[in-house]
Amino acid sequence: MIHYFDTLIIGSGLAGLRAAIEASRHGSVAVLTKLYPTRSHSGAAQGGISAALGNEEPDSPEWHFYDTTKGSDFLGDQDAIGIMCEDAIRTIVELEHMGVPFSRTPEGKIAQRRFGGHTRDFGAAPVRRACYSADRTGHAILFALYEQSELQGVASFPEFQVLDIVIENGRCSGALVLDIQSGDLHTFNAKATLVASGGYGRVFKTTSNALASTGDCLSILFDGGIPLEDMECFQFHPTGLYGLGILITEGARGEGGILVNGKGERFMERYAPTIKDLAPRDMVSRAIMTEIREGRGVDGKDFVHLDLRHVDKKIIEERLPEISTFCKIYMGIDPSENPIPVLPTAHYAMGGIPTDVDGRVLGDEKGATIEGLYAAGECACVSVHGANRLGCNSLLDTVVFGRRAGMAIGGYIKDADRREIAKGPSDRVKADMNALVNSTGDEKAGALRSEFRKMMMDRCSVFRNEEGLAGLVQDLKTIKERTKYVGIKDRGAQFNTELLEALELNHLINLGEAIALSALQRKESRGAHSREDFPERDDENWLKHTFAFKTGRGIEFRYKPVTITRFKPEERKY
Ligand SMILES: Cc1cc2nc3c(=O)[nH]c(=O)nc-3n(C[C@H](O)[C@H](O)[C@H](O)COP(=O)(O)OP(=O)(O)OC[C@H]3O[C@@H](n4cnc5c(N)ncnc54)[C@H](O)[C@@H]3O)c2cc1C
Repeated sequence: MIHYFDTLIIGSGLAGLRAAIEASRHGSVAVLTKLYPTRSHSGAAQGGISAALGNEEPDSPEWHFYDTTKGSDFLGDQDAIGIMCEDAIRTIVELEHMGVPFSRTPEGKIAQRRFGGHTRDFGAAPVRRACYSADRTGHAILFALYEQSELQGVASFPEFQVLDIVIENGRCSGALVLDIQSGDLHTFNAKATLVASGGYGRVFKTTSNALASTGDCLSILFDGGIPLEDMECFQFHPTGLYGLGILITEGARGEGGILVNGKGERFMERYAPTIKDLAPRDMVSRAIMTEIREGRGVDGKDFVHLDLRHVDKKIIEERLPEISTFCKIYMGIDPSENPIPVLPTAHYAMGGIPTDVDGRVLGDEKGATIEGLYAAGECACVSVHGANRLGCNSLLDTVVFGRRAGMAIGGYIKDADRREIAKGPSDRVKADMNALVNSTGDEKAGALRSEFRKMMMDRCSVFRNEEGLAGLVQDLKTIKERTKYVGIKDRGAQFNTELLEALELNHLINLGEAIALSALQRKESRGAHSREDFPERDDENWLKHTFAFKTGRGIEFRYKPVTITRFKPEERKY
């Protein structure tokens, strides 16, 4: 089937839906998602969305700007950070008006809690900056935006998986898409295409990310010649449930929870004396891994405890109901009576598709844009999070830059002419799909995926070094070769999840290579990228963004300077 829209949006998380609402004021909009729209990973966000409302104590966008910059280990672009922090207050009011049921203070104002790295007076003490809806903040915002997008007449295509994004002669003309239910191939022609396809945490064995977070569209664009920025910067959240990776929100520490090692010590006092357990995630994850490596895990095992037993039971019931349920269901423990075993879990991709502050995708490190192609949300790198994102800044990023991309699209489609994807790309995709569905090799996608995710976890997670990364790069080549022999047993067209898993595996490995090689070339430690063989930050040589390009000769690197407008790099102490 062939469709024509002014705007095509890939992804129905917060970024995609916020952009859709905006773009629909200017023309027809289609939103594609490989899931049901409200199952997007945004709905799993627990802890909150940041804005310096100052409802509970004094706060200012300026402090938010400083914290985000310092949190990013000075790799964040300050033009973008300034925009985000300034726009945060308006954004929260707008979300409230769209129907988001935020938790309240006794006087009826939007309640706020503490979160890692958010401080008052440029680092003096933690500040209450996270607006929340109990510990189901993403769910509340996602449903409100979905309702609004329906009211705006946005056309929704659930369970439509994008196979290719078509860029011809430097212009994007839409996407080729599989209807998962029927197995039919659809062509979506559009003047403007926005990629809002979320994160790719499934690259790692232990992750808080949903099954669908496989980074398909980043991989597709990378193959199509679009660079990927700062892929070495991947965040590990300190508190994943031990053995499972399911997230326990930082809000648990924001409400008073503390981390304790096997000796019963509150070890964060040693690593971040001023803000302790509320230090940024990269520091807390490294601290936990160091405690475990030095033999201070609980009972000699590889986890530490998150202790909430001293927190008022009523606070746990009212503000953290979701994580209490997770602990009961998955670990058989009640967090008000037992400490929670936790270990860092792969959580958030700081790197991604490079864009300007209006969502336009950059084709190179010099700032050339690709006509008609936009990106926003976790798949994009604008870059507000630099080498390490602060908690609650991602939901803010999705709605602030989703809206800006939607507005830029509105301006663009007015004068843009109709697009028509040529027959060539769609014939190619059909042939590729046919070949895959008829493949009879001995390898199994599921088994290869487990092997791949384990090797990424072992050699490219919280700590990295030259030897591990170089070995990983070699092993990735081997596993990539083996994917050519993946056999598919299901030859059916409808709901062929075996086929989809094989496609997603290729995307995961493609991104794994970009991450491993980007990590190998950055010879310093900055934010979440921590090299044991280069433990210091090196501003002289590495205060710059990595741009990875896929070429006929393999992956090549170029660099873009960091935009510094307000805060000069300084030592990062908390
Ligand atoms: C457990 C958890 C808790 C979190 N808590 C917080 C928090 O409290 N505060 C905070 O700020 N951040 C939090 N984050 C991070 C934040 O939720 C995400 O970064 C953000 O929601 C991403 O939104 P998005 O719109 O970019 O993408 P997503 O919400 O991930 O949506 C991606 C969309 O793209 C679609 N898609 C992907 N590939 C394809 C394809 N090939 N074809 C068609 N569709 C496709 C998916 O179906 C989906 O609709 C959390 C993340 C996790 C995992």
